[in-house]
Amino acid sequence: MKILVINAGSSSLKYQLFDMADRKVLAKGLCERIGIDGSRLKHKPLNSDEIIIDKEMKNHAQAIQIVIEALTSPEYGVISDMSEISAVGHRVVHGGEFFKSSVVIDEDVKKAIEECVSLAPLHNPPNLIGIKACEEIMPNVKQVAVFDTAFHQTMPKKAFLYALPMEMYKKHKIRKYGFHGTSHKYVAQRAADILGKPIEELKIITCHLGNGSSVTAVDGGKSVDTSMGFTPLDGIIMGTRCGTIDPAIVEFIAQKEGISLSEVNDILNKKSGVLGISGISSDFRDLENAANEGNEDAALALDMFAYSVTQYIGRYMAAMGGCDAIVFTAGIGENNSKMRKKIVKTLEFAGVKIDEEKNKIRGQEIDISTDDAKIRTLVIPTNEELMIALETEKLV
Ligand code: AMP
Repeated sequence: MKILVINAGSSSLKYQLFDMADRKVLAKGLCERIGIDGSRLKHKPLNSDEIIIDKEMKNHAQAIQIVIEALTSPEYGVISDMSEISAVGHRVVHGGEFFKSSVVIDEDVKKAIEECVSLAPLHNPPNLIGIKACEEIMPNVKQVAVFDTAFHQTMPKKAFLYALPMEMYKKHKIRKYGFHGTSHKYVAQRAADILGKPIEELKIITCHLGNGSSVTAVDGGKSVDTSMGFTPLDGIIMGTRCGTIDPAIVEFIAQKEGISLSEVNDILNKKSGVLGISGISSDFRDLENAANEGNEDAALALDMFAYSVTQYIGRYMAAMGGCDAIVFTAGIGENNSKMRKKIVKTLEFAGVKIDEEKNKIRGQEIDISTDDAKIRTLVIPTNEELMIALETEKLV
């Protein structure tokens, strides 16, 4: 079975075509500048070099059409006909309280995704456009929606409610939703596979540390708490997002700086985090270089990031009454050995101990714990596209 995975953004569209027999990516690519002058497709077939096709893409339907042409091209294609695609899996950011798992898309599903637009105004509209474009081009192919929020729908009320007047939840659905669910679910399952134990018997803390970061407590295979909240702004310090702060700061900044609430929101989302602290960059490689050259603010930003992740790990150990494994994933989690070491340094009391030699390895699945560590520490590269393909395969 061949499954096409689509991740549609406002002016971009990423895709991967999987052969589920061996889970191989037959081709992947990216449409850029959809609806803008200078649109182009970057297409990478499995066994050959990336090609770039400059072609007008007025909308997402045209982009999908061009992707299909590339996939079936006699020159650089990987399938002979569109009918070889059995199903399409779509990444959808917000499923609100409607979706506890992935679903085959029908009219009701699209309506519900539409209803979640106010919760994810930047992401759900392009996701929906991607779905409608695929329906138009491939009317007989089943479409599946895989939600970033669905994995966290198992959180108990005591974890997902905020201590606001209950009507705020009832009227406006203000609650913790959590994000990166597809990634947390994937690495938690891989961790169980690597440890050779049923996931139902494990307490796992998954740390998705990239430009956006979140930590999740996975008890028995279910998300029981996660650091991101109503929006992806909450939780640990991120590249440009502040993470958890005292909410009273919002009005205080607005008054002191004489700016609007949406301008404050912009500061919290785009100018804060390690970028805000360091004044240099949101990229951890730049920060490490600067810190090595003696920049104290860059070093402080790295310390603050590590401290905030460590705190969440401790919090979730307490929430689950124990922990069998900690998993690091995404750009920083997979590649930054210094940061991993910094994060777990003060967790030795709980039985977390990493082997310095093993910790040097980057970007591959590995247990980096010492033999005597009570809590295993694993590095597992995330693969959200494969997870979406697997969920789609399961449903069709
Ligand atoms: P992501 O959002 O998952 O792409 O992660 C982006 C972050 O991961 C950036 O702060 C990068 O500095 C970091 N990162 C990505 N690749 C590497 C690498 N090879 N070595 C060190 N850090 C990396």
